Amino acid sequence: MNKINKVWHLANKMPKNPNLDERIIWHLGHAKHCSCRPLAGKIVEEVKKRGLKV
Ligand SMILES: [Zn+2]
Repeated sequence: MNKINKVWHLANKMPKNPNLDERIIWHLGHAKHCSCRPLAGKIVEEVKKRGLKV
């Protein structure tokens, strides 16, 4: 099931040339609200390094 939450995506565009922090914040928000794609490997590693919950 990879259902896209269009409303969330429209309201939360990924910034252009996002830095790592921005990507992590985006992906954490994304994972909560939408399941169109899983968290990417490198993001998961960074989230864990920072002691955040996925
Ligand atoms: Zn999505």
